[in-house]
This record gives sequence, structure tokens and C-alpha cells, in this order.
Amino acid sequence: MGAPTTEHATRSVGAVLAEAAEARATVVLSGHVQPDADALGSTLALAEGLRRRGARVLPTFPAPFTLPASLGWLPGAEGLVPPSSVPSSPDVFVSLDAASPGRLGELAVLLDRAGTSVVVDHHASNPGFGGVQLVDPGAPATVALVAGLLDDLGVLVDQQLATCLYAGLAADTGSFRFGNTRPDTHEFAARLLATGIDHAAISRRLFDTAPFGWLGLLSVVTGRAALEPGVGRGLVWTWSSTAEAAEHGLPGEQLEALVDVIRSAQEADVACVLKGQDDGSWSVSLRSRGGTDVARVAIALGGGGHTLAAGYTSHLDREGTVAALRDQLALG
Ligand code: MN
Repeated sequence: MGAPTTEHATRSVGAVLAEAAEARATVVLSGHVQPDADALGSTLALAEGLRRRGARVLPTFPAPFTLPASLGWLPGAEGLVPPSSVPSSPDVFVSLDAASPGRLGELAVLLDRAGTSVVVDHHASNPGFGGVQLVDPGAPATVALVAGLLDDLGVLVDQQLATCLYAGLAADTGSFRFGNTRPDTHEFAARLLATGIDHAAISRRLFDTAPFGWLGLLSVVTGRAALEPGVGRGLVWTWSSTAEAAEHGLPGEQLEALVDVIRSAQEADVACVLKGQDDGSWSVSLRSRGGTDVARVAIALGGGGHTLAAGYTSHLDREGTVAALRDQLALG
């Protein structure tokens, strides 16, 4: 069930967390900025497991400290504390699903200030930061690594924990459609379903629920999509912004799902959505059909991710951002 390939690292992270729980240590846990289901599910599940084993846990995530509506129902979400409220030098800091220190925002300083810093992640672009690491690019989601750690801690994965873990697993595998789904991914899912969780309700909340304004935003954004067959192996791209989402009565996080629609264009190997942020920057999402390593592209442009799904932030204007992307895709 999602067993990590790095057994030595597993033992070290597991040992660190077991010692911390035994000592009733203060443990701050955080996912990446603008957390998704894997980041939050990992954070909440491991926090609850450590709490049951005796640790004083403070689950959080970097500013802006606004929980996406699609994830606010996750068990334990009410216990999340703002990043400004966590101790600046806890006994242990655990980073979950963050591919780089930059993805931890203002919490990145805890990597140095904590007594021990632990990094649990599955991004291929993770350079290996933090004091003790469990980084397995073969894992379909960070929640799969967290499940192994909960087993190490002797924590029973009940419905509460299974709900958090399943949300992360379903999201990061695209409901088991993406290439990161392996035989043991389904075994892991089966184990979670066997606890009696309502997986249909979890999927409906994650994937099939949005305000009516979403339909209007979708029509505008898909209507302006551009196909550029000559760029790399083909590029389809479009853009939106938090301001445009607001015009449709939507929070900015609704922009995240746009790329899943845009990438259906069969003529393009790479799909791209530029998401204009409140500060004027562009948050860029990339997806690949398989002919292009978008992690390489994202890393070259200052971001990171997986081979088929990656992203970065651009401070150029819209045309400059797309021009820089075209240049990278032209390299192959
Ligand atoms: Mn993930």
C-alpha cells in the first residue's frame, strides 16, 4: 500500500515522529501554499495521528490562510491554526507535499528554526531539503507516504483519517486516471474504503461541486483558449484571474480546475492556464499528455512539479509569460 521505495528514510522519519510523540513534543505541520486535497489531507491526517500518540500538534498552511470551500469539510479542518499563530521554533516542523522551501511561504523559516525539520513529499522536482526526508517520487500522493508513517506510529486508520487520506489520493491521481496510479494505489484505496468512508460523497465534494457562476467563468475562459500546434508538440493555453473569478462570484481557488478542462484539446501535448493573482503575478499551471516533461519546463521557469503536471509563478505580463513558455517548449 503505497510503500515508499526509500526504506531507510521511512525509518528515520518514522523514528523522529515516534520520539516526538513519546516526548509530547510540539509539532507544527504544514502543506504548501494554496493547499490542495493532498497537502491538506496529509497535514490533517498526520496531525491527528501524532495527536493521538501524545504530541502537541499545530496543523497550519502558509498565507493566505483561506481554506478552499471544496476542502473545508475535511475532518480536523476546524483545528487548523493561522501561520501567524504557530511557535517560531517548535520541537519539530513537518513539511507535507511541498516541492521546495519556497512553497512553504513564511513558514519556510521553520525548516531552520525547528529542533528537527521533516520533509514528506512525492514531487520529482523536490531537491531534498529539510533535516530528515521522506521523498518518494514514485508515490502517487503524499497521503500514501503519510499512511505508511501512521502505520509506523501504530495509529489505527479509522474513517476520520481515511477520509483525509482518500481525498488526497483521489485528487492527486485524478480519480485513479493518471499514470501515477499503480497496483498498490488501488490496494491503498481499497484499504481506505474498507473503513466505511463515503467515497462517493468525497469525490462529489472534491470534483463535482461548484457555484453556478463556475459555468459562466468556464464559458469565458474556454472561449478564449488558443491552440498553437507549432509550439513544441502543440500548446493549448488560456488565462483568467482572481478578479475575473470574483466577477462570477467565485473565490480564486476555482481557477485551479480550469486546466482539467483545457487539457482535453487533443491537438496539444501541453495545456497551460495562466491564473492572474491579486498581486499582479501569474500562477501558471502546466499539464502534459506525455510527450513533454513539464516539470523540466516549470523548473526552468522557477517552479516545479511532476513530469505530467507542474507549475510556476511569472512576474512578466501575460504576453511575456506565454512567450517565455513558448521558448521553453521549443527546446523540446
Ligand atoms: Mn501531492
